[in-house]
Amino acid sequence: MAEHEDTIFALASGGGRTAVAVLRISGEKSGALLDALCGRRPPPRRASLRRVRDISGETLDRALALWLPGPGTYTGEDSAELHLHGGPAVIEAVAEALIAAGARPAEAGEFTRRAFFNGRMDLTAAEAVADLVEAESAEQRRQALRQMEGALGALYEDWSQRLMRVLAQQEALIDFPDEDLPADVARLLATEMATLAAEIAAHLNDNRRGERTREGLRIAIIGPPNVGKSSLINRLLARDVAIVSDLPGTTRDALEARLVLGGMVMTMIDTAGLRETEDRIEAEGVRRARARAAEADIVLAMHDASQPEAVLDAAAMPRAGEVIVVANKLDLASRRDIGDAIGVSALTGQGLERLSDALIAAGRRLTARTGPPPLTRPRHRAALEAALAALTRAMAEPSEELRGEELRIALRMIGRVTGRWGVEEILGEIFSRFCIGK
Ligand code: GDP
Repeated sequence: MAEHEDTIFALASGGGRTAVAVLRISGEKSGALLDALCGRRPPPRRASLRRVRDISGETLDRALALWLPGPGTYTGEDSAELHLHGGPAVIEAVAEALIAAGARPAEAGEFTRRAFFNGRMDLTAAEAVADLVEAESAEQRRQALRQMEGALGALYEDWSQRLMRVLAQQEALIDFPDEDLPADVARLLATEMATLAAEIAAHLNDNRRGERTREGLRIAIIGPPNVGKSSLINRLLARDVAIVSDLPGTTRDALEARLVLGGMVMTMIDTAGLRETEDRIEAEGVRRARARAAEADIVLAMHDASQPEAVLDAAAMPRAGEVIVVANKLDLASRRDIGDAIGVSALTGQGLERLSDALIAAGRRLTARTGPPPLTRPRHRAALEAALAALTRAMAEPSEELRGEELRIALRMIGRVTGRWGVEEILGEIFSRFCIGK
């Protein structure tokens, strides 16, 4: 492919002033570029100190240079790394020298794209690289690493292989209907289709735990105005992000704040107070609050402990996930007043430990990490749903030919997830979200 003839480079470390900046180079000219800039090519895979010079011979930096001959590299191509001093002038001068010597700056995701094209990883692993770079919590890191190492790819590949065998047997039934095929081929085929369908269905029906981990859990705090929703978020974050005010109904829209609790990313959503209102802007806020609660993984239903008559009816709450009932302003009430609710005070910090524990426990239930690797992306979900639908149609299909056709669709859909088939359309979509240097 033409684009692969270029030798590309990019800053692989973060921008800004750093002690060390890593420039990553990939493509067939990598070795020649090292010779041109560093004089002598270091031995393979051995970090060596070199003077980096431009064409005029001026020394630009003293750097660690690495020569990484392919195909056992990240991209599968000949590659090199320069560990420079991290100042912008150094990086710019070396980048210019590389361009002068025939390289070009990489586009976002280009290194990983090449790794995929050269068979170094499948699409699920490539996506996991992006997830790992973006991971904010321990659970996100674990999940991305496992996926990058091929756990999800292996699962989908296994299904592909088995579907392929089913398809081959199906074709045999079509091509040699009168031959002496073992009598039980048709029966075995039906059993294997049913087993596959059940496995895919179970994977899809996993309560979104993998997607929840990847995207972070959404926690909506709802309750009447002035019960202390904003104050609680501020307490949890220990910084001022939400507006705190004495006037009922002043938090007009949902505010979001992310925190990491128990190794999980949780996005706390402060919503406008839930109450009947004449005010149009506030009514809109209430509508949005209900919508947020309905989408949230966990709803914190909050009331004022000193006003037990105003307790929200948790059972009537619009929700998709779990509900935790919280009684705030415990400093103004006694524990007797709050029943089963978790009593806290956003003012004094009392009870917050218990609330954090409850959030972590609920989060763990929603993302539980057991058994086979979980589905992590809507893209995978959509393709697997289509595969399952085709497989289900195949099982009910009396015509041998049409059944073969449905099986082929199922196979193509699973192939899309790993990139074995139907890849072109989704490539741009995936790699455009990468940062330069990955
Ligand atoms: P929201 O409308 O539910 O977001 O409520 P706010 O967070 O704006 O708080 C409303 C008022 O209650 C503010 O004056 C807070 O200072 C006060 N408040 C919040 N939490 C507590 C608490 O635990 N104890 C007491 N005594 N006052 C609180």
